[in-house]
Amino acid sequence: MDYPGNLFVVAAPSGAGKSSLVKALLELDSQVQPSVSHTTRPPRGQEKHGREYFFVSAQEFDQMVLAGSFVEWAHVHGKRYGTSKKMIEDRIAQGADVILEIDFQGALQIKRIFANAVLVFILPPSWEELRSRLERRGEDAPHVIELRLQNAAEEMAKATEFDFVIINELFERALFDLKAIVHAQRLKYSAQRRARAETFEALHIP
Ligand code: 5GP
Repeated sequence: MDYPGNLFVVAAPSGAGKSSLVKALLELDSQVQPSVSHTTRPPRGQEKHGREYFFVSAQEFDQMVLAGSFVEWAHVHGKRYGTSKKMIEDRIAQGADVILEIDFQGALQIKRIFANAVLVFILPPSWEELRSRLERRGEDAPHVIELRLQNAAEEMAKATEFDFVIINELFERALFDLKAIVHAQRLKYSAQRRARAETFEALHIP
């Protein structure tokens, strides 16, 4: 189905800078709205229920799976994460652009259901840089970093199934690329036809 709003899905291996890029885009572009996922992992630091995630129990998550509430869900690092179908469908139906920051399995599931979803994969510039970002972040023990790097190899192989790739070497350049992808979607014929209906009619364009 063709909705007036765009659906952007951003995936990346951990340490590639996905969250910072999406956060910067949301600050710059009020037409883009984040989707808040449900997860069975507990909140970290200052995270608030309903802001970063809806933090739910395993039972509540099971009920939502059974009720068909998720457009996609996946196991990531031993916990479950899912995107509510209604939340994104309602918003893109109203014309908002929605951005999902999810793992690659979820991104590929989304594309099967929302064929017009725009899939963006963020890559680090090299293995060395990915490793040093994970080390500098200081969040993970050395064995966890090794695990994240192993997972990254598997995740990055899936970039081939995405529509766009951004190599996050310089943050500002990568943000420019992400903004360009969002902007280009808004210039598509169907989007312009809807947004500038009067201009098209005055020009006698169907
Ligand atoms: P974190 O727990 O660090 O916030 O997220 C862990 C991973 O889960 C990240 O790669 C994040 O993008 C992914 N994730 C967050 N929400 C969802 C979701 O709704 N579905 C899927 N498939 N992955 C998600």
